[in-house]
Formats: sequence, structure tokens, C-alpha cells
Amino acid sequence: MNPTMNRLLTIAFSWLIAPAATWAQTTDAPDTPEPGSLEAIAQETSDPRFSSPWVASVPESAEIPSPTDFLGHIAGAAGELPNSATIYAYLRELAQASSRVSIEVIGRTEENREILLLAIADEAGIRALPELKAASARLADPRLTTPAQLEELLPLARPFYYFNGAIHADESGAPDMLMELAYRLAVSEDPMIRRIREQLVVLINPVANPDGRDKMSDWFYRFHRGKTDYDTLSRQSPPYWGKYVFVDANRDAHQLDFATTQAVAKMFFDYHPTVIHDLHEAIPLLQTWNGTGPYNPNLDPIVYAEFLEMSFHEMSALSALGMPGVWTWDFGEGFGYHYTDSIAMNHNAIGRGYETFGNAVPLRVTRKIASFDVTRTWFRPLPPPDREFTWSHRDNVNYSQSGSLAALDYTAGQAKQLLRNFYQKGYNSWTRGKSGDPYAFVIPAEQGDRLRVASMINRLLDQRIEVGRASRKFSIGDETFSSGDFVVLLDQPYRNYAVDLLQPQEFPDDAEHEPYDDISWALPVHYGVRTIAVNDSAILKVSIRKITERVKPEGTVASSGRVYLLKDTGQESLLAARYRLADFEVRIAERAFRLGRQTYPAGSWVIDDQPGLADALRAVSAELALDFDAARSAPDVTLHSAPLPRLGVWVPWADTDMSGWIRYSLDQQRIPYTYLRDEEIRAGKLKQDIDVIVYGAVLLDLQGQIHGIEPTHGPMPFNRTDEFPSLGAPVSSDDITGGIGWQGLANLEAFARDGGVLITLGSGSTLVLESGLVRNVRRVDLHGVTTPGAHLRTLFLQPQHPIAYGYPAETYAFRSPYSFYDPPRRWLTMSYCTSCLDGPIDLRHVVMQWGTQPYDAEDDPKAGPAAPILISGGGKNLSALEGRPALLDVPLGDGSVLVFNFNPMHRDLNHADSRYLYNGILNWRYIASRDAGSR
Ligand SMILES: [Zn+2]
Repeated sequence: MNPTMNRLLTIAFSWLIAPAATWAQTTDAPDTPEPGSLEAIAQETSDPRFSSPWVASVPESAEIPSPTDFLGHIAGAAGELPNSATIYAYLRELAQASSRVSIEVIGRTEENREILLLAIADEAGIRALPELKAASARLADPRLTTPAQLEELLPLARPFYYFNGAIHADESGAPDMLMELAYRLAVSEDPMIRRIREQLVVLINPVANPDGRDKMSDWFYRFHRGKTDYDTLSRQSPPYWGKYVFVDANRDAHQLDFATTQAVAKMFFDYHPTVIHDLHEAIPLLQTWNGTGPYNPNLDPIVYAEFLEMSFHEMSALSALGMPGVWTWDFGEGFGYHYTDSIAMNHNAIGRGYETFGNAVPLRVTRKIASFDVTRTWFRPLPPPDREFTWSHRDNVNYSQSGSLAALDYTAGQAKQLLRNFYQKGYNSWTRGKSGDPYAFVIPAEQGDRLRVASMINRLLDQRIEVGRASRKFSIGDETFSSGDFVVLLDQPYRNYAVDLLQPQEFPDDAEHEPYDDISWALPVHYGVRTIAVNDSAILKVSIRKITERVKPEGTVASSGRVYLLKDTGQESLLAARYRLADFEVRIAERAFRLGRQTYPAGSWVIDDQPGLADALRAVSAELALDFDAARSAPDVTLHSAPLPRLGVWVPWADTDMSGWIRYSLDQQRIPYTYLRDEEIRAGKLKQDIDVIVYGAVLLDLQGQIHGIEPTHGPMPFNRTDEFPSLGAPVSSDDITGGIGWQGLANLEAFARDGGVLITLGSGSTLVLESGLVRNVRRVDLHGVTTPGAHLRTLFLQPQHPIAYGYPAETYAFRSPYSFYDPPRRWLTMSYCTSCLDGPIDLRHVVMQWGTQPYDAEDDPKAGPAAPILISGGGKNLSALEGRPALLDVPLGDGSVLVFNFNPMHRDLNHADSRYLYNGILNWRYIASRDAGSR
């Protein structure tokens, strides 16, 4: 049988087994298809199996405009990618015309675009929105509703089911799908749709990331419209979707840093939806999330059963409609909840998501999939029949819309039970907190960095975790706490999330499945803030005032002296403070010193009084909560000057994601920097304008870090034009291809040789270590060793190094899965050698190592270390990491290269690590000159 015949028969057979009853229902359905919609959708659908009767046509309405009425084409048509303005204009018309739809603005993006939210229900539901929201809020807080009152409340409540569309802009089908879904939900009289309207309120955020959608739309029309060969398309996505990060916009659930997540959080605390459903695109053909395990022990077990049940419903419903390739389970682990949908998971609701097969571009193209994807298994009972097929934008819309309808149908059928569960999860969380284990967390307000304590507390408050302050001094056991210390009493509805955020993570050692992302998010560890779990019920008798506003501590400035002193107790804000004091000379103590009864650690500041200084210190102290002491004369200690560096942040066009967090953190602290594109690195003469270059972690190998985006399709301009006004922000380029090239690498070397300090973070360090810019450090394959985003113990081998200012000699850092390296070795001079790097270990340039045990090449992997290397998270065979370099300071010409084997600027989370980087920036001149002496 020839393949074509085989395929035709397969299609014919699948039509025979397709559930005829369902198709028959649509014939009798009360909806009249919009004229032409059946044909248009069939034409845009690659294969009849890639559709369902639920979405095969669009219902006709005399009064309400359909997407086709507005756009002139069916949603998901090839060659069309409407931008947010067009989508919003249509949805506003829909809301205007239909009393079943309301619309509101729930946010504004960094580029000042609106983020819109639609609510869709029957007329009664839309009229009663305020009452329904109030009922949801009462279900969310069990202190407002007793179990006895629950049954009275349920008839007054409905589940809100929230869809989030295209937070990842190149996962481009959801906005098109959601326009059609909104219209269908508003006008269809199909019994299934009517029941959804009557039982639920459907919330739709059609374009979760409008900055990204508009860039994606412009990018498509500029470079890809009309193309058909998927394998030869140039880069399908613009280099930016927003002002800062890229894919990592979906790692912001704990931080709520970006407008995309802030809007979802605002919606959540306003509506208390039962479900947040985030629509993504990647793997074929429709994957409905729920995680493989290990599952997070702090979530209520009800949720795990709920999301499995919902996923299985989607899988069975769509399989029954004859749609192949719908599956669940084998994606992500279910331990970490850092994603947008996790806002629901962390607050007793259900977070879920899809990965629909997407082309990124709205084109009908030939796609090939892996053999795994066509395997029939319990979690994919009806796999796609072929590994190669044609796939269109409309196929994508058909799948995600059919799945969404199945999910809504399920939720409508289970509406009251899901509300009951939502209440029960909050109730369980609250009552668990009342019974201890622990009762509370206490966080002393005055510790090394009071501003960082406040930032951590504010993060809890933003998540609606309730925090109080002690009204007076109190003791628990043999520890005494001060008035004003923070107390998180756990008898509260979000107790589970509080515990999850405030205790170190323990990823099971024997887990069958690997983590998908970070496995340590404990805020006290990330922030370096001492937090005490209290399991003594005496804490319940302590007088505590609940905090109602964000915390803003201030510092003090001593009345005038000849000299001002700032004790370095690890404050994160020292770099920001240095920039605020740009007009004044600051000197830094290289050793600890005593003055009166005070001991000032190395890193403390000495500032001679000068006109205007006192006022400037008062402003800095108020803003950054720093204390400035006064003295009659400078202390007797070696000081070095800390001139302000001209800071550059190099962001390669090939990967802007992780560097976006660096830019975000610097912007938040108003630390000025120059954005360096590949173009600037290529142009050279870097030291003329820049003293310190920071190069962040990137998901690129050495080749990608040097040569960037494949230049075959270049030039690819990313700049604003009248036709493509969304491109070119936050920075523009005439051509984003080609990377820095060999010349750029040579220019970076010249920069350091000219006295600059080049700082590479995490995987960005590949560039200097593996190109040979830093010599004699060899990458090592540590088989079976994993550090998937965990906190690990470290040791300063050079505790006097400026990078160590503010830290104890034994400390820790957050490590993502980057490459491993051996310590540097001295070069052996022999007549010939085959492994010249195998000279003796040279620790002169190792500032900090992993673990506390020394590196021992002979005894590898090592026996268990004295102090366990793991602090929070997990990892495999971690003892093999002991003694390997975590941070190098390598002299190069008149300058230096600081090489981090971790990322101290990870997602605005690991604030305890920031000072490693900031010390390098602040002491740049001293480091370069110190290194010059050590050559
Ligand atoms: Zn995605």
C-alpha cells in the first residue's frame, strides 16, 4: 500500500470512528452557522481530525459582531496575526453589543499598553458580578464563612474560570482563539455553552503580554508573511517581547515584578477565580499540564486530584471527538510553583495550562515530530498517526479552543463541588496553621540589612500573606525578640504558601523525575534573612499588630563629625548608595577596625566631611535605610578609594532573557548603566566609555555566545518604522544577527587589558573560560551531578578579597545548572605534552569555592563533607562539587576578569548573592590594581 493510500484510509477510518452522535447534535443544534464560517474553518484546517464539531463553525448572530465581521477573516486564518489594538477594538465592540460580556482594564504594561480582561456569563451573571465577586472572596477566607454557612453561600457563588493568552508572544495562537471563544460563549445557544454561561463566569485576558504580541505581529509581517517552508524560516520571534525578560515573564509568580504577572495577581485577588488556565504552545498536539511528581508537600492534596481529573476530562472529551494527540502528565514535575498559573496554586485555587502545538508564525507548514509524540500510552491514548504532517494556525486554534470548551464544560458540571473544594483548601490551610508545626515565623527587623528584611516582608504582603509586628519585647524559649520584630502567624488562609516561601525546600533525593526549573525559592535563604520557625504556642499570646501597609525602614545619620562611617553589615544597597553619593569621595576599609566600642568589618565606608555631604547622607539614609556614624578622625586602617565605575551591561541579541533581570534589578535601584549591544562590543575601544562590563547568564553555547544569531537571513533589523512601530524597544538594531564575532571577543580582551573589569555570570562565563580568554581552567563533566536551581554552601578561599565584603568566610550561593570547572592549574613547561593542563592546582585566583571541603583530584567524588553542601532545594552527587571554583578573579593586562560559576542576579530572588556582584563593581579599581600586583 502506498503511503498516500494509507493516509487516505486512515482519514476515512477516523471519520468512521468519530463520534457520530456529537456531529448529529450539531445538526440539531440551535445555532445557525455564520454563513461561510464552516467552509472558511474547514479550509484553514489541515486535516478534518484536527478539528471538532464544537469549533467547526461560528454561530451566526444578527446583533453581535463576530471576529469575521470585524477582522474580515476567520480567527486563526493563515497569514494574519492581529495586534493588541485590533484584538482589543474587536472585544470592545463585542462587549458593547452583548449584555453577556463586560470588559475592564486590569493593568498597563511597561510600554504603556492596556491589559484587558473580559468577563462572560449569562445576563444575570454579568449583572451580578459584584455579588459573585463578594461571594468568591468569602469562600477564599474561611474566617468569613463557617462550614455551616458554606452551603448557604454556594447558591450565590459561581466559579470564575480565567484564561491567560500568550504571555509568551511567539506562542501566538491564544489571542486569536480567545476572540472566537469569547464570541462563541456570548452568542451560542448550544446547551453546553448555555450551561457554561449559567454556571460560570469566564474571565479572558486575551493578550496577557500586549507589548510582546505587538512586536510579534510586526515581526511576522516584516519577515515571514507568505513564507511556507518552515525549516528555512529565519528567527521567528523578535529578540524582545517586553521591556525586560523574555520566556522568564513566566517565572514571576513569587516576585510579581512585571506588568503581565501583576495584572493576573490583581485579577486573582479581585475575583478569586477557581482556575487560572495559562495558554502556552510547544509540544504536539495538545498537552494539558499537571506534573509528574514529585509534588510540592505544602499544597493541599485536593488540588492534585482536581487538576488530574480536569486533564483527564479534556483528554477523554477530545479523544471522543476524534482529535488525536491530546495528552497529559509527562511534562514538568509539580514541585515548584513559580509560573503565572501558580498564582492560583499558591492561593488555594487551581493553576493549569496547555502546550498546544504552535508554529509561532500563522502559516500552514509541514512539521515533523518525535517518535515519543506518536507513542500510544496511558497518558496519550490517541496519538497522532504520523510523524510528519501539515499544521496550520487554525489547527492550533481548533485544539486549544476545543480543550478550553471541554474544561469549561467540566467546570460547569462540577461548579458547586469545585467551589466547595476551593473553600475547603483555604479552610484546611487556616486550621493547619492553628495547630502548629509551626505556629509562626519570627523575622527580627534589625539584622544585617534592614532594607532587605523589609523587601522580603513586602513580598509576603504583596502575596496577601498576613504579617504582624510585635508590640513589645517577647521571649520564645531562650530567645528574646524585640518590639517591632515581624511575626507571620500561620492561622491564615494562605498559611500553606507562607510555609512554602519561608522554609527551605527539600526536593526528594529519590525522585523519579527531574525538576523542570528551580527547586529552591525559600525567601529567607534567597534574601539572607534570619527567619525562625516557632513551634511553641506561647507565640499566640504575644501582642501583635497586623501590618496594613508596605514596610519602609529608614536609617540614621549621626550629627556632624569630621568623618562619616558606614558599617558594612552586608547591606545590598551599598552600590546604589555609592551612585547617590556620586559627587563625594568614598573610601573603603580593607580590614576590620575598631572605633570606640564599635567594630567595623572590612568593606566599611569612610567619608571625609565635605560641603553638602550631610544632606546627601540624610537623603541616602532615608531612602536606603543605611546608618551613618560620625567620628573625629579617620580610623587607622588601610583604605582604598572607590571611584564610581562607568557600568556597562552587555546583552547579546541571541538571548536577552536572563540579562533582563539584571537590567530590572539595576533600574529598580536607579543604578545607571550603559546598555551594550553586540554592535558596541564589535566596535571596540570599550574602555574609553566603560570601566566595568557585566555579562549575564545566557542559554547559548560558546559558538552562540560569540557568533550570535545565524546570519544566513541577515540583515534582520529590529528597529521602529512607520509600518512596524512596535519594534526597536527597549533598544534597536539594524541587524541582530552575527553576534560579537571574533572581533568582539578580541575587543573584550582588550577592554580588560586596558584596565577594565569584565564580569561574567553563570553560563555567560563559558565565553571567557572556554574561549581561552581566561586560561588554564578546564571544564569537567561531573557525571550524575545536578544542581537544578538550589542553594549550596560556599567558602571564601580569600576572605580578604573585596568580593567577600559583607559576607562571612563560610557562606552560600544559588546555583543553576551551569557547567562545572576544575580549579585552575599551572602550566607545565615540557618539551611536549599531551595534557598540559594537568599541572599543579593554582588557587591564587580562586576567590570562593563550592562547599567547605578542599578540592582533591585524587579523591573524587569525596566522602561526605563536614557541613552538608545543600542548604535548600536538592541536587545529585553534590559532594563531587566540593572544592571546585565558584568565583574566580583572574588578572588580564591592567584589568581583571571576575568569573562567576553562578548567577548572583537570578530573577530578582537571590538578593543575598547580589553583593558578590556589587562588591566587584564597587571595588573595580582596587580589584584591577590589586590584580596588577599579583601578576
Ligand atoms: Zn510558553
